[in-house]
Amino acid sequence: NRQFLLASRPVGAPVRADFNLVETAVPAIKEGEVLLRSVYLSLDPYMRGRMSDAKSYAPAVELGEPLVGGAVCRIEQSHNPDFVVGDWVVAFAGWQDYAVSDGQSLLKIDASLAHHSYALGVLGMPGLTAYMGLLDIGQPQAGETVVVAAATGAVGSLVGQIAKLKGCKVVGIAGGAEKCRYAVEQLGFDFCLDHKSENLAEQLSKACDNGIDVYFESVGGKVFDAVFPLLNTKARIPVCGLISQYNATELPEGPDRLSMLMGTLLVKRIKAQGFIVFDDYGDRYNEFSEAMGEWLSDGKIKYKEQIVDGLENAPSAFIGLLQGENFGKLIVRVGPD
Ligand code: NDP
Repeated sequence: NRQFLLASRPVGAPVRADFNLVETAVPAIKEGEVLLRSVYLSLDPYMRGRMSDAKSYAPAVELGEPLVGGAVCRIEQSHNPDFVVGDWVVAFAGWQDYAVSDGQSLLKIDASLAHHSYALGVLGMPGLTAYMGLLDIGQPQAGETVVVAAATGAVGSLVGQIAKLKGCKVVGIAGGAEKCRYAVEQLGFDFCLDHKSENLAEQLSKACDNGIDVYFESVGGKVFDAVFPLLNTKARIPVCGLISQYNATELPEGPDRLSMLMGTLLVKRIKAQGFIVFDDYGDRYNEFSEAMGEWLSDGKIKYKEQIVDGLENAPSAFIGLLQGENFGKLIVRVGPD
């Protein structure tokens, strides 16, 4: 049983030495338990937060403990009447080959699903995040302009496509020409702008000639700076993530802009609302899964994964995720189907 343990808490960007790969015995199970074997491990930006001991909505991983994470697993052994060997489930199994569960928090996956890994993306946590953040908090109306950051990623690619289905104009912001081309040509966004280009603010203002009604925030930093002056009266900002800050060790440079931010929220009556997907919307998973399942099977939603082979490559893939190296939902293939 290979496991990645947290060796040290990163200062700034995580490095390979923060992860320690060890080999342990495959755990034994008791009555009522199942043994899970990971097939796909999801790598997600929130894991950077769990590596840190700063106070957050979820407890930090302790030093020397396995890194946490969602995975698609198969039941390898079962002493639980609700599961048989070979069942596919989603579990919070962590960065390891095997995990034990009492079955309570496992979500069964339809064995007929063409891609079981989709349960970690378009039909799972990132999908629910995009759907609820955009529709419940963003409340996009047909004809409005929606701007989405990290536009080709797991969450952002779905946000933009759902907004198009709702009749909005969609402007993505992503890193690099290839991602931007994909957003327009494959995902159907109206525009997609490269946040690495010199004049992002100018390009955004041209693309959003009627201002911005919904800004789906996943990035913060320079991207937010470009968006902020273009927000319309009564704009909505689902605050989903701030990935440009996750590795930050200091406050951003420049003057304190808090009073300007609050003043604009007041005068323009803008609603900015954070959310933590399972805490706030876990009970609405079925509603999401029905809608998304239908869009997917009708070909109305496109979905891209980047699958990295081998658990041993999880740290480098995760380090890359925080630097925009992934193109699509990042998944590690831990073992065979
Ligand atoms: P992605 O698949 O979008 O991957 C992360 C992407 O973020 C990178 O590919 C990169 O895209 C972009 N990025 C990374 N660093 C920077 C940077 N310094 N500046 C600008 N962009 C950067 O990840 P997810 O879709 O899984 O997650 C997207 C966001 O949603 C994250 O902020 C995450 O924390 C948040 N989230 C929040 C949830 C909640 O419950 N609130 C649940 C799930 C996700 P590019 O190359 O285009 O810049």
